Amino acid sequence: MVPPCPLTSPDQQPATSPELAACAPWTDWVWSANAQGIVTSCAQPPSSGERLSNPPLHVGVALWEQPEVAWSQPAPEWLTLRLQTRQPLRNLWGVWTPGGKDPLNLVLCGQHNPNLAQGSWHGGITTSDTQDTPPPRRVTTPTQAPPRSPTEPLQLLNHIDVALSAARQSAHHSALMVVNLLDTASGMPTLRPPPDSAAQRQQIQNTLQTVMRPQDAWGRLGPGEWGVFVSDLGTDPLVAASIARQVANRLLASLNALDLHHALASGGWECVAGIAMMGQRTSHAQAALSEARQAVTLQRHKTANGVWMADPALHAQLSSRVNLEAEFQTAIAHGELRLFFQPVVNIHASTIGAEALVRWQHPKNGLISPAHFIGMAEETGLIIPMGWWVLRAACQQLAEWARVPYKASWTIAVNVSAKQFLQNNFVDEVQSILAETGINPRRLKLELTESVMVQHVEDAIAKMSVLQAQGIKFSLDDFGTGYSSLSYLKRLPLQQLKIDQSFVRDIHNDPNDAAIVKTILALAHSMELSVVAEGVETLEQEEFLIAAGCRYMQGYLYGRPVPVSQWT
Ligand code: C2E
Ligand code: CA
Ligand code: CA
Repeated sequence: MVPPCPLTSPDQQPATSPELAACAPWTDWVWSANAQGIVTSCAQPPSSGERLSNPPLHVGVALWEQPEVAWSQPAPEWLTLRLQTRQPLRNLWGVWTPGGKDPLNLVLCGQHNPNLAQGSWHGGITTSDTQDTPPPRRVTTPTQAPPRSPTEPLQLLNHIDVALSAARQSAHHSALMVVNLLDTASGMPTLRPPPDSAAQRQQIQNTLQTVMRPQDAWGRLGPGEWGVFVSDLGTDPLVAASIARQVANRLLASLNALDLHHALASGGWECVAGIAMMGQRTSHAQAALSEARQAVTLQRHKTANGVWMADPALHAQLSSRVNLEAEFQTAIAHGELRLFFQPVVNIHASTIGAEALVRWQHPKNGLISPAHFIGMAEETGLIIPMGWWVLRAACQQLAEWARVPYKASWTIAVNVSAKQFLQNNFVDEVQSILAETGINPRRLKLELTESVMVQHVEDAIAKMSVLQAQGIKFSLDDFGTGYSSLSYLKRLPLQQLKIDQSFVRDIHNDPNDAAIVKTILALAHSMELSVVAEGVETLEQEEFLIAAGCRYMQGYLYGRPVPVSQWT
């Protein structure tokens, strides 16, 4: 049993001691480390009752070189970069093998605090038996036990609370779903659960294992009732709710396809799901659980086949989103997409090119910004035809500029979504647009985000190499916000990094952001990459960036995204 961390248990006031502020509601150990990531302490929280064995982290050894812990991240560079850039460590999973004993799962959270006396990093560690609770991410150590899901309700709720304490720092949404087996034998669906046998439980367990991602968690809450926790749903509440609904639909479809009849004493049954979104509003597992249960039992806010949403406002938004999706289906054919261009400038504020940014001229609602439809377009796959429309329009623009002497050297950067880039015919399509518009490929830059490359490195390298050989350049967008790993970055044929605007925004108020920007610039220069800083709005920001060695800038200071007709 894991003792609760006394200062942050859900019913009490948040921790006042900075050493404990980052520890999860259930914490076995608190740790601290210096700015270089060398562990300076690891001990049980002062007032936890049970005495545990020796701590998992060895003092004097770097976090990523701990002899007893095998981290689950793909590369130690991931951890080093997070430490260098001082981003919170959220739910870092690993397997801890205490000398000669059975391996345990270990979850580490932490954050950087330059004001701490004995260490710059501090956080909490929770351990659990590998036989009971799987690490939600895959761990590649030979000692790893095969992944199994938490089976006890309490374990699931504990797991959720630990995950949420980390998610709170990242503002990422997650969802708790309650899946109920309904007895429909009497002709009238009732919430009286059908009797569940070991065989039936096993079938459901197997289905969950197949449908859910490794980082999700689930457990049986009671007869005919299962809890499923889906995390990392992004920062947009509506997109998160929509993904959660899709996951629930997929899960219910798989469960309803099971042949449980031989396992069930009664004849008819079906599965339904209640979803409680967890973010800023609902942040405790127990509260979310009762919301999700209520959604099903009181049958509130049905969104689709058997899926019920706990939050009425989200339900309403999801419904209007369905309309938007239907309208977006025809937006390209009806010529409703517009391409805006935002200047990219050098240190003398001279335009060297532009980023192409899409807009949707809705017939009734006016101009809609991509923030309102890109997420939906990604989910529905409409991002692919949209992406081709954008690339073609951008290349047509380059062809026009090629005829004007002082514009002929300008480049256009086009955002390419992961879905589009992963298409098998991506390279062929790009080449056919180049041929069709007859542009110089050296003027075209494709902006990709880290997630695509890290997940599909080989595929990314292959595609990028072919296009790069023809002169197209590649830029890594929103750099610093993802899980950058230096070893991956080094292998990719990239020419540019774009520093995310969130770091530029607070460059003068937040010393961490200033340090991150400097680190990124040093990193990029050592890898011979050029850097564009995004979101530059003030002269002070510009001054800082130039002093730190940044050569290219983009932001409202130089111009907002506008139709090309408004370019001089
Ligand atoms: P992004 O690629 O990071 O684009 C930069 C965003 O920052 C743009 O938002 C731009 O208008 C905004 N921006 C530029 N300078 C400043 C500034 O000084 N201050 C502030 N606060 N914001 C600034 P926008 O146009 O709303 O686009 C949002 C996101 O939508 C883009 O982020 C990109 O991820 C996506 N997007 C836009 N067009 C396309 C497209 O054609 N294809 C794909 N796949 N995604 C697109
Ligand atoms: Ca971009
Ligand atoms: Ca960006």
